[in-house]
Amino acid sequence: MPFTHQNLLDAMDGVAMILDHELRIIGVGEPNWQRFLDENRPQAPSACNGSSASVLNRPVTQFIAGNAVRSTFAELFNSVLSGARPLVQIDYRCDAPNLRRDMRLSARPIQTGDEVRHLLYQSVMLSALQRPDIPLFGIPVADQEAEDILTLCAICARVAWPVGAPSGAREWIEPPEYYRRGGGEVSLISHGFCERCFARLQEDE
Ligand SMILES: [Zn+2]
Repeated sequence: MPFTHQNLLDAMDGVAMILDHELRIIGVGEPNWQRFLDENRPQAPSACNGSSASVLNRPVTQFIAGNAVRSTFAELFNSVLSGARPLVQIDYRCDAPNLRRDMRLSARPIQTGDEVRHLLYQSVMLSALQRPDIPLFGIPVADQEAEDILTLCAICARVAWPVGAPSGAREWIEPPEYYRRGGGEVSLISHGFCERCFARLQEDE
């Protein structure tokens, strides 16, 4: 059997994808694809039927929740394609209600000829720790930040407090602290960036 880039993607740790110059998914490592869907379940578009074939040729940004988060990640990936950055590497939290998950996402250029026309996107789990349930991590994610919606930082998973405060007047607290301060159950949350994580994203490598 000839060696193909599909063999290579299948052998890679975590979720591995090849993105084209418009950030469309043109290859997916099969064994860990289901994990990607599980981790992104609250925001996975309903049109995705779960098979890796159904996501081919769709922009990876369709699977990122929150307008601000989506546009920031698209900018970062595009900056690697253009050569403005050598790579993007982001450590982030992707918890389930009863599981703390520390993840690392990277987007690296695939050099073919003089130009970079493709990226290797890889998301691997660094650690997973069981812990008591934090219901916030099971709640669907809305596309927009809105005044009455609780905002969770997409990188460090801290919560903007108090809910509905203007961005200059809120602090970022750990989710258990949200409940200690009397934060109630919510049916929808949004993803954004706290100031600290946003500043780190803008730093050049
Ligand atoms: Zn943060």
